Amino acid sequence: MAAQLIKGAEVSKQIREELTKEIEELKEKHGVTPGLATILVGEDPGSKVYVGQKEKACNNLGIYSVRTDLPADTSEADLLDLVKKLNDDSKIHGILVQLPLPKHIDATRVIYAIEPDKDVDCFHPVNVGKLMIGAGRFLPCTPHGIMELLKRYDIATEGKHVVVVGRSNIVGKPIANLMLQPPPGGNATVTLCHTGTKDLATYTKTADILIVAVGQPKMVTGDMVKEGVVVIDVGVNRIGKTPEGKAILAGDVDFDSVEPKASAITPVPGGVGPMTITMLMKNTVVAAKAS
Ligand code: NDP
Repeated sequence: MAAQLIKGAEVSKQIREELTKEIEELKEKHGVTPGLATILVGEDPGSKVYVGQKEKACNNLGIYSVRTDLPADTSEADLLDLVKKLNDDSKIHGILVQLPLPKHIDATRVIYAIEPDKDVDCFHPVNVGKLMIGAGRFLPCTPHGIMELLKRYDIATEGKHVVVVGRSNIVGKPIANLMLQPPPGGNATVTLCHTGTKDLATYTKTADILIVAVGQPKMVTGDMVKEGVVVIDVGVNRIGKTPEGKAILAGDVDFDSVEPKASAITPVPGGVGPMTITMLMKNTVVAAKAS
């Protein structure tokens, strides 16, 4: 039987409809309009697209959005000044500095400068620490999107063996953490794999739920998974261009060989991807509610 497709695009639409109602209510009952500030430094084309998508999502939902585009040679001091101004701006509830930053700017210092209550990306160490102890106001966007996808597809995580491949601070570590939290967290048994893992397939084959975030196109193949596995493919890899010049995307999972063995799987594109910006919008609303 074909695997169930976990359609992030549809779930994302549903969550955005819910958010629209919450935002209207916030405005009417409390006179608060959620506000998100985005900062882009430099000309990276991918980053421009992401910031544009975030701005558009704000506009569609009725979130007040302020975008600042800075030249690539902006000094770290000027960027820190801007972050400070936004920290003090009561109309702004969330601040997002698009990464990567130019090499002469220390991204860690910039992230640390964001007021934790406005850190809607959930990258500040205070929020990362709160996540670890299950006390976070914000959850990081991509891992939160994954939890929400599983919930809305009624895929239980409790007692399951969840194998995460990739240990980045943005995806691998936080999703492993959310999965091992007691209820209402994942309450799963978690294995976290990385390049130091010997014989990766030994672990991936034992996964009830396999989450892959490595940035290596089609790395996980059908012979590395067991029958009935639920597969969450976080990877977004550009593997070529169509004759019209459109990017051809592939996940970190070889869909063609894995899908026949899986009970459910996220496609790329249209799986995890659409959830990330939606969860950023959600965090902005959460921040506004707490203000
Ligand atoms: P990073 O490059 O920061 O981390 C990759 C991780 O994968 C590292 O921990 C690395 O291990 C591990 N890894 C790489 N190759 C292997 C391998 N052969 N075997 C085992 N582990 C391996 O990537 P991100 O987490 O930021 O992103 C991963 C993918 O997800 C990318 O394709 C990215 O574009 C995508 N992504 C998608 C998002 C979305 O919204 N859909 C959001 C964020 C990311 P080690 O630590 O040992 O080097």
